[in-house]
Amino acid sequence: MKFWVVVPAAGIGSRIGGDRPKQYLPLHGRAVIEHSLERLLSLAPQGLVVALHPDDQFWHNLAIRHHPRIRVVQGGSERAHSVRNALAALATEAADHDWVLVHDVARPCVRVADIERLLATVATSAVGGILATPVSDTLKEVSGEEIQATRDRSSLWAALTPQMFRFALLRDALDNALAEGVVPTDEAMAVERAGHKPMVVAGSRDNIKITLREDIAIAEAILRWQEADTQESTP
Ligand code: C5P
Repeated sequence: MKFWVVVPAAGIGSRIGGDRPKQYLPLHGRAVIEHSLERLLSLAPQGLVVALHPDDQFWHNLAIRHHPRIRVVQGGSERAHSVRNALAALATEAADHDWVLVHDVARPCVRVADIERLLATVATSAVGGILATPVSDTLKEVSGEEIQATRDRSSLWAALTPQMFRFALLRDALDNALAEGVVPTDEAMAVERAGHKPMVVAGSRDNIKITLREDIAIAEAILRWQEADTQESTP
């Protein structure tokens, strides 16, 4: 199946602290970004565009930058701008109906099997869809330090990545949202605004987004566990 990949990696990850953006922190023997890119590249996309911060100091140290399917663009002020720049870089090659998968660089534990299931399931959809997981915690609406309400979680899912959409539909949805002053926090939000109903495909809960310092230790444990799991399930 023909598809393209976009990886927004231009964030500075200020909540995590440290001497470098979170995508360059060491994780299980490599940088976070290398895990994310290797998993995506194992599916042999047509091409993969990484959006980097204009002042990025770390990309040039990584061997993976020479991978023939990878190209780099400059990111923007918010995630949505970075994705838009990456899509613009594909404009001459990607056809309107081609699929594009957008994956947060900060989700290095995504399972290749989940991405394969997303590709297979969403391929039958006209619009697209996302990996997501049903919310299991009870959700409170809070103002200051006080609970205002308890939300009914039965219909709530947490959005993960990759998110998979037709190239032109995603580009136009993002452009329109940004032109109207709305900065979508994921691709599905832009596509929903355009009046569509993307699919959800159940993803694994271990596809965490590295946000805080402790998430590196959690991701390390997940990667070890996934390795052991693979070895056990391999005859
Ligand atoms: O900060 P957060 O984890 O929510 O960012 C989600 C993703 O968007 C990360 O992969 C981050 O590198 C990326 N991003 C970006 N350009 C920005 C801000 C965030 O590519 N201006």
